[in-house]
Amino acid sequence: MASVGMSNGLPTLPDSSSQLSCLVKDVSYPMNLSWRQRAACRGVDPDIFYPASDEDAEPAKAICDQCDVRQACLEFALANRERDGIWGGATERERRRITRQRRKSA
Ligand code: SF4
Repeated sequence: MASVGMSNGLPTLPDSSSQLSCLVKDVSYPMNLSWRQRAACRGVDPDIFYPASDEDAEPAKAICDQCDVRQACLEFALANRERDGIWGGATERERRRITRQRRKSA
């Protein structure tokens, strides 16, 4: 498993063995982040969530498809304008599309 550290803007959860693969930033943030504890990507190699291309995103998306907190994860990424990685089963390109669609319908 790849090592994950704060240099990548990663969180350190109370139990370091439960660190998320989806790499939620450790920020002073008013949003409730308790959903991270139920993430399906816990313990999974974080590199999977940073594919070289969208075509290589399927392994991460398959994990996200099984995740109970997918929507919360996606909303977090959208709210924080996460640019890299797979969040809530969506690539950066897909998140940009979601953001555009929401702006249009607002
Ligand atoms: S939706 Fe995907 S990236 Fe987000 S917490 Fe679940 S498994 Fe991790």
